[in-house]
Amino acid sequence: MSRIALVTGGTRGIGAAISIALKAAGYKVAASYAGNDLAAQSFRDENKIAVFKWDVADFDECQGGINQVEKELGPIDVLVNNAGITRDATLHKMDLPQWNAVISTNLNSLFNMTRGVIEGMRERKFGRIVSISSINGQKGQFGQANYAAAKAGVIGFTKSIAQENASKGITANVVAPGYIGTEMVRAVPEEILNSKIISQIPVGRLGEPEEVADCVVFLASDKAGFVTGSTLTANGGQYMD
Ligand code: NDP
Repeated sequence: MSRIALVTGGTRGIGAAISIALKAAGYKVAASYAGNDLAAQSFRDENKIAVFKWDVADFDECQGGINQVEKELGPIDVLVNNAGITRDATLHKMDLPQWNAVISTNLNSLFNMTRGVIEGMRERKFGRIVSISSINGQKGQFGQANYAAAKAGVIGFTKSIAQENASKGITANVVAPGYIGTEMVRAVPEEILNSKIISQIPVGRLGEPEEVADCVVFLASDKAGFVTGSTLTANGGQYMD
């Protein structure tokens, strides 16, 4: 029987690549999104993957969304906490809404989502939690105190729940991507991309969303049962923690 995987922010960018790769690996996949209905519908139609809309920053919406996914697809075996946003500003110019939006969407969401699936996983004695951090959560980044704090929090959260749930057949791991060639990054003018970004990446290119997705598929698999509490960096050698 197919395992069920839920990917938050699974309709666009890296999340879409993760949803597609999990489906190709044999999972029944649910992809959640926040509000871009057009992107979600075309993703659903092209890939035949079920999509669900709720805000991962809202605890009650997450519980409702999880219930709906479990009703339609079955109990969630694999949770991929991928949804994330940026609201960049240096700290002396950052306002409270910028701070709160990034912490709520990128970090509180891990509590909101994981809390909703963990009891079922513990009862069934199997689960995989994979959360997407960032190179900037490992090394910090100018203009991203909010984002770096949230993404570093993802790692601490994961190490803690990995310890709490290891005896129940549940693993929790992080994938920390570097610069990935999503629409946003590719929109940077080529000259700046080459001189400021690619020049800092030892492998000499951007990563592909599919390369992050392959890391997630491995961590979600039965083969990764002995891997828990780890952070898998996929950054072309840009930062080695
Ligand atoms: P995108 O902006 O391309 O896609 C974000 C996805 O998350 C969309 O599906 C979006 O839904 C969803 N989303 C955003 N906010 C919420 C919310 N409040 N509730 C539910 N869903 C939400 O993101 P990326 O693919 O660039 O990034 C994916 C993850 O990877 C993020 O955690 C990001 O921090 C991380 N990352 C990205 C890197 C990169 O180079 N792109 C590098 C390192 C880490 P909708 O379509 O409705 O807006």
